[in-house]
Amino acid sequence: MNAHTVIVGGGISSIRLAERLRRAGDEDPITIVSEETGLVYDRPPLSKSVLLDTEPKRPDLTTAAALEDLAVRVIDGRRAVRLDRAHRHVELESGERLPYEDLVIATGSRPRRLPVLDGVNPHYLRTWTDALALRKAVRGAARVGIVGAGVLGLEIAATSRALGCEVVVIDTAPRVLARLGGQDLSDPVLALHRDHGVRFHLDTGIEAASRDANGAITLRLTDGTERAVDVLVVAAGAVPVTDWLENSGLAGHDGVETDGGCRTIDDRVYAIGDVARVERHPGRHQRLEHWTNASDTATIAARNILARRRGEDLSTLTELPYVWSDQYDVKLQILGRLDADSRLLPAVDDPETGRWLRLAARGQEVTGVVGWNMPAAVNRCRAALMAATPVHELLETAPWERKIRG
Ligand SMILES: Cc1cc2nc3c(=O)[nH]c(=O)nc-3n(C[C@H](O)[C@H](O)[C@H](O)COP(=O)(O)OP(=O)(O)OC[C@H]3O[C@@H](n4cnc5c(N)ncnc54)[C@H](O)[C@@H]3O)c2cc1C
Repeated sequence: MNAHTVIVGGGISSIRLAERLRRAGDEDPITIVSEETGLVYDRPPLSKSVLLDTEPKRPDLTTAAALEDLAVRVIDGRRAVRLDRAHRHVELESGERLPYEDLVIATGSRPRRLPVLDGVNPHYLRTWTDALALRKAVRGAARVGIVGAGVLGLEIAATSRALGCEVVVIDTAPRVLARLGGQDLSDPVLALHRDHGVRFHLDTGIEAASRDANGAITLRLTDGTERAVDVLVVAAGAVPVTDWLENSGLAGHDGVETDGGCRTIDDRVYAIGDVARVERHPGRHQRLEHWTNASDTATIAARNILARRRGEDLSTLTELPYVWSDQYDVKLQILGRLDADSRLLPAVDDPETGRWLRLAARGQEVTGVVGWNMPAAVNRCRAALMAATPVHELLETAPWERKIRG
């Protein structure tokens, strides 16, 4: 009998999983169920080039011909509404039931909504449709307000400044990028935005919001001030999409928990990408909303689906977490782990170009590196980080140097 793989979700993680199964020789049926319509597309450009370019194209990750070559059935424009693990099938909103041999949960995440702002109908940014609506709004706007000083909020701030808008960013956290790292990460990023004229209200919430007859929105802030904006965007984090898994026993408080091989407690069900809380270290689960993680987890899940069927050894995720963000003319990259109290030690500082590379250390252990327009140098540190090289040794061997000189 054919072993049918059903992938629920139509983002990068699902298409990568299908590609990896085929590349590894899987000839059995694969079905992708996607709530969105059309081909799978990429999200990072939605906060960058799609807002900036005069004629943006949907950043598709595949083509109809490539999908045909892969022999993947895509059911698009339809939601999965229920998982029945006992009978091994997924139910779609149309009532159709898809039986599976292996199921992959790849439903991603969606923006966290702020109920206090529901009355003024702010923008959220996750989909191509959201991006087109935001693009239209910011391109005609004088003042843009952004709620959330995380990666997404700051990228929208940079793009809006490039389009000539006045920008104000509001966040309840006392510093920018608070969820990504410590003060040493926040400081240069905050300075970058201030240099570009962005104004901040940090450690500040929103008490009330109203919209006047001309469409302008007034925000009453907890610091006692009021801000009027023409466009309001909420980028206050994302929540994993697990509502369709209610009663399946798989949805936890923050996503779907898996072991290091992306397997849930059910050995026929995997979770990958933004929705998955993967055990990256024994006993430590982490849910990452990063593009590279979507691809890395897809690779591991594909490997393990086939390994189980073939009776081979299972794999676990060993790739380091990695995230990048483009803001103004800066490519910020974080490879490895940063904690809220991570101090950054200088490794390279080039005052002429403003480029730098810093090491995040915990005691003698280097847990990560942060690069500011130093992509080659960051990449060069990968092997040393994987090998848990101690700080003094890394500073001595300076693996980044070779690449810079070379
Ligand atoms: C605007 C933006 C900019 C970004 N920029 C960066 C960046 O610069 N660097 C970086 O590292 N990361 C970035 N990211 C994050 C990165 O894009 C995500 O980590 C990645 O898209 C996650 O992929 P995924 O496949 O897990 O989920 P998603 O891309 O969220 O895809 C999940 C899909 O599943 C569908 N779905 C959900 N529920 C159901 C259901 N019940 N039935 C059927 N389908 C369903 C959804 O509609 C969606 O199409 C950005 C994200 C956004 C939104």
